[in-house]
Amino acid sequence: MKQGDFSQSVEQMVATDDRFTCAVREIGKKLSESDRPALTDLMDSSLSTYKVTKFLRDSGFSIGQTTVWKHRTKQCSCEREK
Ligand SMILES: [Zn+2]
Repeated sequence: MKQGDFSQSVEQMVATDDRFTCAVREIGKKLSESDRPALTDLMDSSLSTYKVTKFLRDSGFSIGQTTVWKHRTKQCSCEREK
């Protein structure tokens, strides 16, 4: 491996990782216009990721804690699509 290859590979991998659209974003699409801000409020709240995930699951959305956590810590695809 040449010098610089590693960082280039990582960069490429990160840039092309759009296989999964953020599930939080997907939920937002399913919500009505008037409900959408509540989702943002929920994500920005100080509630634990566990509670947020449980609430969403109880509301009928299939989502994992890791996904919620990634969205809340801005590591999801939403950030790249801004
Ligand atoms: Zn997201």
